[in-house]
Amino acid sequence: MAEHESLEYGKADFVLLDNVSMEEFMANLKLRFEKGRIYSYIGEVVVSVNPYRAMNIYGRDTIEQYKGRELYERPPHLFAIADAAYKAMKRRSKDTCIVISGESGAGKTEASKYIMQYIAAITNPNQRAEVERVKNMLLKSNCVLEAFGNAKTNRNDNSSRFGKYMDINFDFKGDPIGGHINNYLLEKSRVIFQQEGERSFHSFYQLLRGAPDSLLRSLHIQKDPKGYNYIKVGALIYCHCFFSQGNLTFGVDGDVTLIENSKLVSVIKDLLSTKEENVQKALLYRTVATGRDIIEKQHTEQEASYGRDALAKAMYERLFCWIVGRINDIIEVKNYNANVHGKNTVIGVLDIYGFEIFQNNSFEQFCINYCNEKLQQLFIQLVLKQEQEEYQREGIPWKHIDYFNNQIIVDLVEQQHKGIFSVLDEACMNVGKVTDEVFLQGLNGKLAKHAHYTSRKLSPTDKSLEFDRDFRIKHYAGDVVYSVVGFIDKNKDTLFQDFKRLLYNSSNPVLKGMWPEGKLSITEVTKRPLTAATLFKNSMISLVENLACKEPYYVRCIKPNDVKSPLLFEQERCRHQVEYLGLLENVRVRRAGFAYRQTYPRFLQRYKMISEFTWPNHDLASDKAAVKSLLQVCGFDHDVAYGKTKVFIRTPRTLFCLEEQRAEMV
Ligand code: ADP
Ligand code: MG
Repeated sequence: MAEHESLEYGKADFVLLDNVSMEEFMANLKLRFEKGRIYSYIGEVVVSVNPYRAMNIYGRDTIEQYKGRELYERPPHLFAIADAAYKAMKRRSKDTCIVISGESGAGKTEASKYIMQYIAAITNPNQRAEVERVKNMLLKSNCVLEAFGNAKTNRNDNSSRFGKYMDINFDFKGDPIGGHINNYLLEKSRVIFQQEGERSFHSFYQLLRGAPDSLLRSLHIQKDPKGYNYIKVGALIYCHCFFSQGNLTFGVDGDVTLIENSKLVSVIKDLLSTKEENVQKALLYRTVATGRDIIEKQHTEQEASYGRDALAKAMYERLFCWIVGRINDIIEVKNYNANVHGKNTVIGVLDIYGFEIFQNNSFEQFCINYCNEKLQQLFIQLVLKQEQEEYQREGIPWKHIDYFNNQIIVDLVEQQHKGIFSVLDEACMNVGKVTDEVFLQGLNGKLAKHAHYTSRKLSPTDKSLEFDRDFRIKHYAGDVVYSVVGFIDKNKDTLFQDFKRLLYNSSNPVLKGMWPEGKLSITEVTKRPLTAATLFKNSMISLVENLACKEPYYVRCIKPNDVKSPLLFEQERCRHQVEYLGLLENVRVRRAGFAYRQTYPRFLQRYKMISEFTWPNHDLASDKAAVKSLLQVCGFDHDVAYGKTKVFIRTPRTLFCLEEQRAEMV
């Protein structure tokens, strides 16, 4: 609970609401937004509403106000939980993580940057050069990643089109000594196609606008983006190679597929540092092994176009991963000597795509929404379930709080054999017909009885399902209808081996290094590459495992309106977000619960000087009895519960008073 805040701004902590109802929650959120209070708490969870205007609350003076303070001493702010995470890391040697969630445009990325700025500002008081170098790299890496991984969308002019998890490593002094970035599922399809009103990744336009003419010439690039189908705003689906003068297109002559603008081949050859005939061949043929024979099979015009687009997407994705790898090379902790440095602790910051419901939802939305189910499950386990279980363990009377446990949806997606990802992978393995419809039939066969799955076939009268190629998932955040069109293709994510070989054989070592699997000849390629779904699932499972072993802090971001207005608080839009972020349940659990808990011996260690019964030592039967008598003397007995091994304090205010009394003594 934040001190120093007048009630005219509403309740700074939703735990203090008179009644926990959606109406009161929304009224408080709206009031605070209108009064320019964009941050609030639910206990230690920060609720943030995007102000859509510059706020004068991130400067040096504000940083100083939060530095080293307890959460409830100052008005709610990102800096307060950044500080809490930092203190946990420094004082208790805990690895911590800050999980930032919310839908596109809600303010996640901005929040992650303020958090990093705060950490950078409060560390390295001695201005050690190496630490300064690391801090600089960590902060500046954002810029590079945003250039290559962000784009203008209809929701957000600077939308992150990838998920990002960044670890910051600290030495025993609490100074950053390195970091590591994990990136998740770059939306590479944006390279070849954008919705009306959207753009491709910033890097393309930045290159055209910012690069000197000589560089553009050496890359055979013309300045006007309209000349490129891949990047002209709202480009049509038939788009072509971005790296060449003009666009690469194919035609047919009789039964021969041709490259229409064949002088481009020589440009591509230059850019890829390879041979012209190899480029030509890779674009028009694929090598296939049939039994012992190896034959060259000519692409149809359609296959050639498909191959070209796949190549453009894959090259951009590899480039992005390569950049992340380069940044990691520079920021990773090197030659870490634990004996000299003591324990190396970590703060992780997760900025990852929020729940997405579009007009047309495809494989990408499916993956993103699965990711949000995983994170919600983690939240449930860490915050809700763990809390209840601890009270039970400690024998503290506890009123059970009902919340929706979304594990059932996580299983629906990721379970072995029966889950949607498995059904999809199975459909992709089919030797016979591999179509999106086969996939949908598979789903209907396996999931007909599942409470969170429906399709047109299973529920013909269901009006929300329009087509026979839709299926619907009841997500914890709401119902989403997915179109199966393109699932198979996106999951297989095929790039012909011929292209991989082409790039591996480039005389440019960087390019070559990005394509190690091009080393294999056609007869050696026996294993299918893992599917996109499997790769994503594995990366999510390991992300969640990584987060689960850290002490979590949460920032829940809310987008107040869809028109980027600083004045508009769209009630329905916000209510829906509050609902699917589970904020009300969060308040209920928090209120039923206790703000602070500590084992009896450690509690005594810190506060025994407050009472003559406990200072310097007590002669009572147990530490528990001693803590009881101490709190009775102080008059806090009513705000406390005594568990088997821990004392639980209901309100932060009590703790605050204890701290003050302690400060007077020491
Ligand atoms: P997300 O990462 O959740 O998609 P962003 O962090 O990119 O959203 O925020 C979208 C836009 O909203 C930003 O470009 C900025 O204009 C505005 N915005 C977000 N947070 C703030 C803030 N704290 N102060 C001012 N503007 C903000
Ligand atoms: Mg973002």
